[in-house]
Amino acid sequence: MGLRLADVLAIDAGRYLAGRHVRSVVVRAYEAILRCRTAVLGGHVARCENGHVVGVFYNGCRHRCCPRCGWGLGRRWLERRSLTLLGCGHHHVILTLPHVFNELWLPNYKLFGRILFKARSRRSRSLGRTPDILVRRRG
Ligand SMILES: [Zn+2]
Repeated sequence: MGLRLADVLAIDAGRYLAGRHVRSVVVRAYEAILRCRTAVLGGHVARCENGHVVGVFYNGCRHRCCPRCGWGLGRRWLERRSLTLLGCGHHHVILTLPHVFNELWLPNYKLFGRILFKARSRRSRSLGRTPDILVRRRG
């Protein structure tokens, strides 16, 4: 088996985290990845139809940042999202903010989301009405 992220974190991340102010979400991700698929989270024994032990499997942490669990969760999330896509041509718009707003965003994400989408909507409508923009798109 190759080197896993949990192996790398176990080597030195504890010391790294101890010397810094790290947000609790980061610490929770770190702890989940370290515990993932270990006896700490329990597990189960797989048996064949004759009752022979096929293998012992430890439970995953199911944390979205875990490379062993997050991939499957992400894939299932994508499958669910693909069911909600419109059945016609459309554009997917991604809105970004400078990192300086992160500390404000996290505790106020619902408010910021409403403001951001409203501002983006207004801007998109005004761009659509601007003849210069339309000419540039065609050229
Ligand atoms: Zn995991």
